[in-house]
Amino acid sequence: MSINPVELSKELVRMNTINPPGREEPCARHLGALLESAGFRVRYHAYGDDRVNLVASIGGESTKPPLCLTGHIDTVPLGATPWSVDPFAAETGDGKLYGRGTSDMKCGVAALTVAALNSAKYLSSTPGLTLVITAGEETGCEGAFHLYRDGVLDRAGAVVVAEPTSNYPFVGHKGALWLKATARGVTAHGSMPEKGVNAIYKAARAVTKLEAFRFDNPSHALMGQATLNVGTIRGGLNINSVPDAAEIAIDIRTVPTVDHGKLIQTLATQLGADVELESLMDLEAVYTDAGHAWMQEVFEIMRPLLGEQPKPRVATYFTDAAALNLAYANPPTVILGPGEPQMAHQTDEYCTVQRIDVAVDAYEQIIRRWCSA
Ligand SMILES: [Zn+2]
Repeated sequence: MSINPVELSKELVRMNTINPPGREEPCARHLGALLESAGFRVRYHAYGDDRVNLVASIGGESTKPPLCLTGHIDTVPLGATPWSVDPFAAETGDGKLYGRGTSDMKCGVAALTVAALNSAKYLSSTPGLTLVITAGEETGCEGAFHLYRDGVLDRAGAVVVAEPTSNYPFVGHKGALWLKATARGVTAHGSMPEKGVNAIYKAARAVTKLEAFRFDNPSHALMGQATLNVGTIRGGLNINSVPDAAEIAIDIRTVPTVDHGKLIQTLATQLGADVELESLMDLEAVYTDAGHAWMQEVFEIMRPLLGEQPKPRVATYFTDAAALNLAYANPPTVILGPGEPQMAHQTDEYCTVQRIDVAVDAYEQIIRRWCSA
């Protein structure tokens, strides 16, 4: 029995997994049932109401670790702009499959699942495959972090992330370090500010220092330099009180030459006693040199499918690989999926139908090469 990847994509799109709240369980169980019937060992990993990750493995009786294929099944909300199509009907037209989560990334998940199903018959005594299908990616790789912290992930020698790349093999992406800086003060009546300590003034001093902050790490050949942005500032309750609390949120996008721990220490020193720093999300950059033997193999597989020799490029977004690779000790990782990167999170999101079939072909070849060597 062979499953059509476009039909499977449609089934996944018709399951509403907008995050929040997510409710990925039916989607995870649907994929799990298909994989189980093809001989995969299936594990469901729940971490909240209807929040379920799926880990499915086959083979693995080898000193060579398995290949990991990964994707997330949650989607972002629909946004304020009305859609011209029903976002959950999975309609096709003009060679496109429309719906929330088509490009990002249910078509990618369908493609990697079908490639795994088609390969299952010859994988039993090979290094094998591990499929890691996550919930909660869109809100900061929550599902992947739960898998890592709960020790569910075993080992993997290389990782394929099926996020949208129009099937172009990306060799990495920046990291993300999100920090909250809290300033505390002492409240007083607004007519007697000398009796209080103004937390907003402290936060403002911190913001000014952050605007002037310069990274001292060498810039990266493909990713350039890290960036820092203050995204929000909140403080004060009313006009006639001295505010005793203020908070800023800092979005730092890092490159492989940045050590997150050291960076937090440097910022804490420079910002001084005015604020306290707290880490909200900590995802290291993901990067594999294009000269790595496995990446060369992926490029070779993709060349005829793309009709051009791939060049080393990186994705603009981050992926679950940043969390999974903590468990897998940073194996070579490629981001490669059928979705259109510019359609992710957009109104009238679509995925080009033909790219789904090409992705299945690509994944099957990557699996075959990994498991026959
Ligand atoms: Zn995504």
